[in-house]
Amino acid sequence: MRESIKSVLISKAEIEKKVAELGARITEEYRGKELLMVCILRGASVFFCDLIRKIDLPLSIDFMSISSYGSGTRSSGEVKINKDLDKRIEGKHVIIVEDIVDSGYTLTYLKGVLAARQPASLKICTLLDKPSRREVPLEPDYVGFSVPNEFVVGYGLDYAEKFRNLDEVCVLSPKVYS
Ligand code: IMP
Ligand code: MG
Repeated sequence: MRESIKSVLISKAEIEKKVAELGARITEEYRGKELLMVCILRGASVFFCDLIRKIDLPLSIDFMSISSYGSGTRSSGEVKINKDLDKRIEGKHVIIVEDIVDSGYTLTYLKGVLAARQPASLKICTLLDKPSRREVPLEPDYVGFSVPNEFVVGYGLDYAEKFRNLDEVCVLSPKVYS
């Protein structure tokens, strides 16, 4: 797998530190509220499992699966819900947990869908943000790391469903997709 990697962008130790910081912030800001953490499958799954264990509050979790990418490296702007949430979110304080915000299409769409279900509040927590690629205005509320315009994999993020099991965020060698 390593021969497909150009470089390590974010190390395991940096990720651990950041996830703990995000967990502590969320713990402070949601104290006394009914918190529901929503994992966007599959990319956010690794981040999600680490993050929820750094939140020192009673909370519930739910999962949603959407697709926007196929197996290329560019978003189409079209978003499809493959698996919806199992529970109602009305009146709950919801945090959507995503792996990366790129063009912003996926989360703009998702925010619209979930906001219509009348949660008490709705915020976005993303491990990575690629602000230089934004095509629609979308500001995530919690951001782990801002990353440059390079295709990254690992710690849940994939290229054509591979590399999710790397424990660091890595830049994929362009020879893999060109
Ligand atoms: P957006 O709709 O363009 O913001 O795309 C968001 C989705 O694109 C993410 O949830 C990822 O699945 C995928 N994506 C965007 N950039 C990358 C990347 O560098 N590596 C892996 N997946 C990416
Ligand atoms: Mg994704």
